[in-house]
Amino acid sequence: MLDFRFTDADERILKAISEERPIARSYARYYDEHEDEIPPLIFEEVRERISPYDLVDMEAGATSGTALMKAMVALEESCSDIRLRRLLNGLGSIVINYAGTEEQVARWGGKNIVFALTEPSAGSDAAAIRARAVLDEQSGVWTLNGEKVYVSGFGGADGVLVLAKVRDEQGRQAFGAFVLEKGTPGLRSNGQTRKMGIRHWDTEDIALVECKVPELHRIDVDFKKTLLVFNGTRPTAAAYGLGVAKALLDFARECLGLDQDERRFRKLAAERTATEESLLRMEALYDAALLTVMHSKWSEDRGEVQDAKLNGAAAKALGGMAARRISQGCMEILGAAALSEEHLAEKWFRDARIFDIFEGPGDINRLIIARVILGYSAKELN
Ligand SMILES: Cc1cc2nc3c(=O)[nH]c(=O)nc-3n(C[C@H](O)[C@H](O)[C@H](O)COP(=O)(O)OP(=O)(O)OC[C@H]3O[C@@H](n4cnc5c(N)ncnc54)[C@H](O)[C@@H]3O)c2cc1C
Repeated sequence: MLDFRFTDADERILKAISEERPIARSYARYYDEHEDEIPPLIFEEVRERISPYDLVDMEAGATSGTALMKAMVALEESCSDIRLRRLLNGLGSIVINYAGTEEQVARWGGKNIVFALTEPSAGSDAAAIRARAVLDEQSGVWTLNGEKVYVSGFGGADGVLVLAKVRDEQGRQAFGAFVLEKGTPGLRSNGQTRKMGIRHWDTEDIALVECKVPELHRIDVDFKKTLLVFNGTRPTAAAYGLGVAKALLDFARECLGLDQDERRFRKLAAERTATEESLLRMEALYDAALLTVMHSKWSEDRGEVQDAKLNGAAAKALGGMAARRISQGCMEILGAAALSEEHLAEKWFRDARIFDIFEGPGDINRLIIARVILGYSAKELN
């Protein structure tokens, strides 16, 4: 029988995060105003406490599933605001761990390697990337040149997995993935990207100028396999967006003096005020989006890979859209409180927008859904 309730262990983990919420919120404005400062590895106030992600692993058997619960932790953390502990497994590390050789996994699998695909003129259209890697056949050394933007976590990372164009053995153009460790000559940071929201989120622009690395640094994944990693990370990105939406919904209810389970929602539609109606619709959208995230992560926990692409894209498309609409809707019913910097609402409004952009904007995720359902390739439907 399906049971949609959280287990006791799930509840304990979620409670641990809400206990830390006031700490995260006390730093929120500071990091919004100090974009160039990367938050510490771990904040002093939580040094003695176990990370909620570790709690999920420790209590794995008693939870609803580790993938599902880690997404719920991401949502609750995002609802708190800034992260109190830095994540140490970048997207690049995930790719290396599933596609690297034994030697590559031993060398970089435990390090924090982030992921760089996006360039000033190539994001959704990854085929347009211009970064190039050229092999010197005699020395076996690759030389990389190019520019990457919006590299999440680069400031605090050990290195980056860079996607670049290469020539395959037949001389055709193909994609290559290369590990560049910090300190590699020619790997330069252009500093933090200026963003409208989530300014605490370490995001750097980088340049590759004649970066030279041996063949060992090339991870043997084709473009399609590299992007498989997004099947799991898209629902998590949606969870981040829903966390911000939840913060705004909670704040709106608090300002209006309403609580979540009030009977007003059982009133007839004609008896509700416009504000109640608006809140009700946003709560319904939030629940629907949350269920797509949970469904996608629940399938991941069961090892169901067949629909992973569809589930991941659906969760991200709906989650991103919900974050956008709910944050907009809350601003509308909050009035002046929404605009004052005395509260975090205006910051959350800016933060929420970004979750409908990265890991594929809504349009792209809807395209993916259509391709999977209708059986079209990316070339046929774009
Ligand atoms: C905070 C943040 C962190 C990020 N972190 C990383 C990272 O770690 N690594 C990384 O590689 N990238 C990262 N990105 C980049 C992110 O993945 C891209 O911004 C995203 O993929 C969109 O690409 P783009 O910005 O080039 O926009 P575009 O692709 O130019 O899209 C612009 C608009 O056009 C629409 N559009 C584009 N193509 C189509 C189409 N075929 N049909 C219909 N509509 C379309 C899009 O939906 C969007 O609304 C990050 C971005 C942000 C904001």
